[in-house]
Amino acid sequence: MDLLEQRILEEGIVLPGNVLKVDSFLNHQIDPQLSMAMGEEFADLFGDVEIDRVLTVEASGIAIGVTTALKLGVPMVFARKKASVLMTEPAYTEQVYSYTKKETSNITVLKKFLPAGEKVLIIDDFLANGEAALGLARLVEKAGSQVAGIGIAIEKAFQNGHQKILDAGYRLEALASVAALENGKVEFVEED
Ligand code: 5GP
Repeated sequence: MDLLEQRILEEGIVLPGNVLKVDSFLNHQIDPQLSMAMGEEFADLFGDVEIDRVLTVEASGIAIGVTTALKLGVPMVFARKKASVLMTEPAYTEQVYSYTKKETSNITVLKKFLPAGEKVLIIDDFLANGEAALGLARLVEKAGSQVAGIGIAIEKAFQNGHQKILDAGYRLEALASVAALENGKVEFVEED
């Protein structure tokens, strides 16, 4: 997606540990127009499959999850990373190791917001080693639903999440694929 690649080149900051910081439009400040364009692109890319619901994880998946769900005309639910006093009802939980926080958290969704028998599209901001996306996929399957696909805004194609998702049999679409983050520069995967 050219618009997203352009913003990454203009505003992305490469941090040590192969981390790309894009807090001016995706991870802290949110650009509503770009989020809308990303949601429309996800809806187009997965336009050929049935989708009943969008699932993401707080916090950075929420904006693009909402715009995708809006375009598809389906509900969106986000997994919480921390226990909340509000979560008193039955819930599904999975353990996920965070690439950026270097800690394991329990991602949780109330059962009533992840009903059985649905086709669920998973959306997230970044893909590194696939922990978050595969944790969300386990939640969907625990609930007795099917993963319709996994949509990622920015995948770091040089890390192993991409292959792990394909090996698990899921369809993966990324709006921007980063080939390398070297010497402070972002290089994208060449499109065929
Ligand atoms: P994974 O679970 O695939 O190893 O990593 C993906 C998750 O870690 C995303 O939900 C995102 O929050 C975070 N993450 C991984 N790599 C990056 C990165 O380079 N930049 C940012 N901002 N977040 C990242």
